[in-house]
Amino acid sequence: MAQRVLAAAGPAQRRAIAKAITLLESTRADHRAQADEMLTALLPHSGKSFRLGISGVPGVGKSTFIEALGLFLIDQGHRVAVLTIDPSSTVSGGSILGDKTRMQRLSVHERAYIRPSPSGGTLGGVAEKTREAMLVCEAAGHDIVIVETVGVGQSETAVAGMTDMFVLMQLPNAGDDLQAIKKGVMELADLVVINKADLDPDAATRAQAQVTGALRLFGQMPHGPRDGQAWHPRVIQLSALLGQGVEGFWNEAREFKSLRTANGQFAARRQHQALDWMWERIDAGLKQAFRSDAAVRQLLPQLKAAVEAGRVPASTAARRLLAAARLPRHPGDDPGATQEHEFMEPGSGPG
Ligand code: GDP
Repeated sequence: MAQRVLAAAGPAQRRAIAKAITLLESTRADHRAQADEMLTALLPHSGKSFRLGISGVPGVGKSTFIEALGLFLIDQGHRVAVLTIDPSSTVSGGSILGDKTRMQRLSVHERAYIRPSPSGGTLGGVAEKTREAMLVCEAAGHDIVIVETVGVGQSETAVAGMTDMFVLMQLPNAGDDLQAIKKGVMELADLVVINKADLDPDAATRAQAQVTGALRLFGQMPHGPRDGQAWHPRVIQLSALLGQGVEGFWNEAREFKSLRTANGQFAARRQHQALDWMWERIDAGLKQAFRSDAAVRQLLPQLKAAVEAGRVPASTAARRLLAAARLPRHPGDDPGATQEHEFMEPGSGPG
């Protein structure tokens, strides 16, 4: 299957990408083994794209913007992939981003590939599939990968954690209500885009100033002169509908990339993300092994009841369960080897 993904661009390759991603999304154990093998084969061919994360509330204009940007980039000779993470689809199976009429022109373009969010599962699981789908698209030669999400839940953090540059889209009136500008999300933004500037240019300019103020307040932007070697988050306005400001947006993204490449932060962010991903998978694997452990399953109901009734402290119950669990080990593992910490701990790397 990997060979077909790596084949020349065209309808056959497009079908191969779709099949490969479907395989990744499968929950069957034999499919997972095949998927792991395929990813390993594709890995040396992946990683060469610019990964762009885009977030914003429903209706802010994400799909209008991504279509305009995608067509612009294709015009410049790029191949664009668009993947989505939709927290609403993980809960209900229904999807805010699932509307089939989105990005109509881009979706039929032979140099674009668009994949809606996998539905069902946890946000962590969906994020994991999206990360893997990104590798498939890159190996197939898509040199720009856009990961889109809605501004609800924790999905922004997931998207910022898998992309090179994170863009937050805002409406011109969002600045009127500073409450709407969540500190946590602002801290993730490398660029804030005020969309629909055509509707009310004055409001857009006001919003630009307000968001800039908020970024300063949150310490994301210096009060004094900019450091020419570093990237500081910026705020721009555009009209996705009229296609105004799309080229300006791309110039900002290119500057971000070249500054960050020159000062080493581009590569550092990728490395940090890869290690975070590894730890996230370890955590998930351990949790799953723990929950399916026979001794844990046997002890859990009584300890749960005891904790609920206040008879046993939660921390004591946790320690007992952990002690009871026989987590899988590979034959020949040396238990003493776990004493050494040669890997970076989560969150200890460069930001
Ligand atoms: P999404 O939910 O964030 O993907 O938003 P859409 O791209 O579907 O846009 C929501 C609505 O806003 C649609 O009716 C768009 O035509 C409209 N829209 C998007 N961008 C602009 C813009 O720049 N100006 C104006 N006036 N309308 C826009």
